[in-house]
Amino acid sequence: MANSSIEWTEMTWNPTTGCTKISAGCKYCYAEVMSRRLKGMGQEKYKDGFKIKMHPDALNIPYTWKNSKIVFVNSMSDLFHKGITLEFIQKVFHVMNDNPQHVFQVLTKRADRLLELHKKLKWTHNIWMGVSVENELVKSRIDFLRKTNAKVKFLSLEPLIGPLPKLNLDNIDWVIVGGESGAKARPMDVEWVLDIQEQCERADIAFFFKQWGGRNKKANGRILNGKVYDEMPPIDFL
Ligand code: SF4
Repeated sequence: MANSSIEWTEMTWNPTTGCTKISAGCKYCYAEVMSRRLKGMGQEKYKDGFKIKMHPDALNIPYTWKNSKIVFVNSMSDLFHKGITLEFIQKVFHVMNDNPQHVFQVLTKRADRLLELHKKLKWTHNIWMGVSVENELVKSRIDFLRKTNAKVKFLSLEPLIGPLPKLNLDNIDWVIVGGESGAKARPMDVEWVLDIQEQCERADIAFFFKQWGGRNKKANGRILNGKVYDEMPPIDFL
C-alpha cells in the first residue's frame, strides 16, 4: 500500500506485480521502470523485477485501513494478465467485496480476459472497472468492458497517442484523459483532448483531465479550456 501521486486516486494496492507489454501504450511503462528501480533498492516484493507475481500476503492490507479510501488496484501490474490465476483474481475480488467502505479502481489492457472471466467474479458497487485505450487500434477494449457486469465502468485514455473520434460511450460512467510524461513522451494533440471532452459533455459522462504530460509534466499542468476537469462518478461509501 502506498499513497499515490496519481490525480484520480488516493492510494495504490498491489496484490500482484509485474506484467508484459501488449500494445503501444505500454512503450514507456512506468510500472516496468519502477519495478526495476525497486529491485535495485533491494525491495523483497520486487526481487523478480517486472516478472508476474502474485502476493497472497498483500491480500489482508485493505482490512487494515482505518478510513474509507479510493484505491488504484495494481498500479504495478495488470490483474487480468494471463499469468494471474483465476483463483487469485477471485481472492482479490473477495477482498474488495468484503471492504465496501473503500472504492477500488481496477484498470486493465486485457479486456478480452476480463470479459471471459467476469461472470466468475462478484461485482459489488465499490469496484470500478476500467480499460486503458491509447489509440484507435485498441478501441475494441471498450466493447469488452461494456459487456461486463461491472457496476461502474471507466476509460483511461492515457497515454493518449492518437485521436479517438466517435467513441461509443454507452454504459460508460467515467473518462480519464492524460498525456504521456517523461523524456521521450509522445505528443498529445490538444484537438484530440477537446474532442473527447466534448463527446463526454454531450453524453453527460464524468470527465477527468489528468495532465498534458511531456518532458516536464508539472510545468505543463492540467488546465484545459481554462479550467481543471476533475469530475468523478458518485462515490457511495457505506
Ligand atoms: S499493461 Fe500496463 S503494466 Fe502492463 S506493460 Fe502495459 S503499461 Fe505496463
